[in-house]
This record gives sequence, structure tokens and C-alpha cells, in this order.
Amino acid sequence: MGKVVLGVTVGVAVAACAVAALVVGRRVRSRKKWKRVVGVLKELEESCETTVGRLRQVVDAMAVEMHAGLASEGGSKLKMLLTFVDNLPSGSEKGIFYALDLGGTNFRVLRVELGGQRSELDPDVEQQPIPEQLMTGRSEDLFDFIASSLHRFAEKGNDSVQSSIMKELGFTFSFPVKQTSVSSGVLIKWTKAFAIKDMVGKEVAGALQQALDRKGLNMRVAVLVNDTVGTLALGHYHDADTVAAVIIGTGTNACYWERTDAIIKCQGLLTTSGGMVVNMEWGNFWSSHLPRTSYDIDLDAESPNPNDQGFEKMISGMYLGDIVRRVVLRMSEESDVFGPVSSRLYVPFALRTPAMAAMHEDDSPELTEVAKILQDVLDISDVPLKVRKLVVKICDVVTRRAARLAAAGIVGILKKIGRDGSGGITGGRSRSDIKMRRTAVAVEGSLYTQYTMFREYLHEALHEILGEDIARHVVINVTEDGSGTGAALLAASHSSSGSVDNIQLV
Ligand code: ADP
Ligand code: MG
Repeated sequence: MGKVVLGVTVGVAVAACAVAALVVGRRVRSRKKWKRVVGVLKELEESCETTVGRLRQVVDAMAVEMHAGLASEGGSKLKMLLTFVDNLPSGSEKGIFYALDLGGTNFRVLRVELGGQRSELDPDVEQQPIPEQLMTGRSEDLFDFIASSLHRFAEKGNDSVQSSIMKELGFTFSFPVKQTSVSSGVLIKWTKAFAIKDMVGKEVAGALQQALDRKGLNMRVAVLVNDTVGTLALGHYHDADTVAAVIIGTGTNACYWERTDAIIKCQGLLTTSGGMVVNMEWGNFWSSHLPRTSYDIDLDAESPNPNDQGFEKMISGMYLGDIVRRVVLRMSEESDVFGPVSSRLYVPFALRTPAMAAMHEDDSPELTEVAKILQDVLDISDVPLKVRKLVVKICDVVTRRAARLAAAGIVGILKKIGRDGSGGITGGRSRSDIKMRRTAVAVEGSLYTQYTMFREYLHEALHEILGEDIARHVVINVTEDGSGTGAALLAASHSSSGSVDNIQLV
């Protein structure tokens, strides 16, 4: 009997040991897996590092590339395109002006009435989708359609556009254009959903003007611009210290006011103002100082435009969510902290930036929003709290890097034009010698306006790079709808009633 009892006891003890060993084994394994995941995060953090020192190197690189792009055509990855916009709205503009904003699946028409003295802007706006067949058909059909819409819109506003008083129109056309004057430019290529073959290499504003003429509209295309230039115009209308504009939305780009004598690639460029807006196309900026990760390299390689838009791919709303997706995928493949690898994680752009931002900004104690988005968007369920915290951290690292690089880009522009307190790119003067002028930068785009953490990180980095003494002279002004309203304002400031043909090449 005693033996039996002993036998049972020993059996139970052996079983208990086996269970304990199993539990310990599992714990060790899961600790190892957790360690691996933490390792992935650590590696991400290290390769996304943006110390002030590194940001200053990016600032310098940006200023140097700007120089190179202005020195010769193709001298830099920064195209530094001439816009021929040689004056910016001052607030004294008067009259009724129109704008047309074409850049995506929708197009908008606007009408704004200016009363001088920086009058309140309250534009009438109408938005309309472009019928799909017109995006790939003949250019004449597209522009006839646009002209008809403009006609209807103008009549509704009780402006007789067939009257003898000509109306000026600003045309925002967000496709790559080689500008030949402030009101003309040749389409280099279509992007997005557009593919109208007969238009490539043709004059864009001219095609619109012909359609307006065919409809008998007494309107003149006064300016042809892109959205950053519109943003700068709107920023300058409200704040005369505005020297640059940055767009941080789906993509990112910047433009700024440059002295014509600094635009070396265009010898003999003369404007009465002595300056001109330069469209940097900064999304394509590249420097070896940019903190690049394996995720950036993969994202670029798998994109339709490899080796292109390198800065944009680290900064803008189109890509941030996808970088986070790639990190989560890697963690999921290397461990089971996310359960079995979800097939959704393999879908490019499955995680959009607004969803990523919502996870990042989830302030609930249990991170319920993170759990919900992981479930709804990525099909990952039952994620423990500590793993949800990890996801928030990934979002934080990716967004912080993006915002800080955008800040470095902005300071790069300020440095190029001698507004960073350092005495400009050539240096020489000490910071204390410089009397820093108030300097405003107009910013637009939902990544900046809708994503609080992004905005705060950008501001923080501006202060770190510039130092408090200089940073307090730099203001960021958010503008709304520069691509529409700004174009109408530029139509006003470049209207035929004002100074015209004051740009000469000698
Ligand atoms: P676009 O750049 O297309 O002209 P927007 O300036 O509105 O238009 O930017 C849209 C982009 O901003 C979206 O593609 C998205 O990446 C990003 N975005 C929009 N809303 C948010 C948000 N709440 N949080 C973070 N990013 C956002
Ligand atoms: Mg936009």
C-alpha cells in the first residue's frame, strides 16, 4: 500500500516537474521571442535616430543641394524650378478673381472678391469629379468640360463672363510642368489617374485658354502654378513676412522666395521685384545624412518610382502608415507576439497614415483604439497590452523621424536665404552679429494639421535646431486651401491691370 502511495506521489511529482519544465520552457521561449521583438524595435529606433547634430547635417545638405539645383539644370536631385511668379499678393488687391484647381480626381472652381486692405477671404467654391473617361481621352474634351463647368459656376455668381470686362483666372495644375512664363508651361508627364496622350509636351494654360475662348468666356489665364506656390501666395497675403511654403499631406513639397541673382542657371533673369518664387520639388531631396532603414529601402524598391522622391517617402502621409506596417510585419514574422502572421500585413498600404495616427494618439489606458485598428485594419486580434504599447512606440518612432526631417528641411530653406540666424550658407558671421528678422513659413496639408504629434515633433525640432533665440523669430502659419485661393490671389497680383511682362531674360 505504502509503495503504491509512494508510486503515485512520485508519479505526480514527475508530472508536476514536466509541467513546470514545459511552462518554464515556454516562458524562456516567449521571453526569447519578446527579446527578439524588442530587438527589432531597438534597431528601428537606432536607424531612425535624428539627433540635433544629424538634423543640422540635413539642414546643411538641403542648403547645399538648393545651391546646386539653382546653379545648373540637373545639378541636384532638387529641381529648383522657376515659377516666373515675381510678386506675391500684398493684401491690396481689388476685384473679382477666379481660380481653377486641377490635380486629382476632383477639380474645383473658385471665385474670390478682393476689397484691398487684406480683406477677409471668403471664396465661393464648387467641387466636381472629373468623369473617368475624360482622364484618358482627348485633351480638348477635358478642357471643354472644365470650361463649361467654369461657365456655369460664373453665371451662378451673377458674373457675366461674356461681358466686355475680362476676368482673370489662376490655374493650379498639380502635375509636372516645365514653366515657360508665369502663365504658360508644358506638361512633362501625367501622374495619378490621368493619361491624355495628346497633351504631353503641350502648353497647358494655352489648352485651357482655347477652351475658354471656344465657350466665349471673357477670361484670361493669368497664372499657371502648382499648389505650393498657391500656399505661399495665400500665406503672404495674410502675413507679409512669409518667405516659404511647405505642403505636408499625401506628398510633400516646398517653395520659397529667392533673389533672381541667386538663380545662376538662368543668367540674366530680371524681375522688377528682384526675386522669384522657386518650386523646389523637395520630395526628391536626398542626402547620405538622412537616417534610412531597411524598411525605407524595401518600400522604395517596391514602389512604382524607385530612387525617386526619397525625402517624401520618409515624411509624407502616403508612406508613414506603410513603414509602420512593414515593421509590424517583420516583428510578426520573427515571433508570435501578434499571433499567426496576418495575411493583411503583406498588403501594401493596408495601414493608412490616419489609422496609424489614431493608434499613436490613443490615450485610453487599455489602448482600445490600437486593439480595434489592429483587428479591423490588419486582422490581428487578441493582442496583449504590452504588444499594443509596442505598436504605439513604432508609430512614434516613424512619425518623430518624419516630423524632425521636415523641420530640418524648413531650416535648410531658411539657411539658404540667410534667415536661420547663422549668416547664410557662406557663414562667416557669428550668431550674435545677426539681427534676425521675423520670418514666416506657410504650411498646409492634413498630415501637419490633423496629426497633433507630427506637428508637435516638427515644432520641437525647429526649436532644437535653431535654438530658442532664433526660433522665436520664426513663425509657422497654417493656410487653408492655398492651391485654390492662392491661385486666385496670384491671378490678382499678376493681373494684366498690374505690372506685366516685367520678367526679362537679357
Ligand atoms: P493632399 O495632400 O492629397 O492634397 P491633404 O493635405 O488633405 O491632401 O493630405 C491628405 C493626407 O494627409 C492623407 O493622404 C493622409 O496621409 C494624411 N492625413 C489625413 N488625415 C490625417 C490624420 N487624421 N492623421 C494623420 N494623417 C492624416
Ligand atoms: Mg493638397
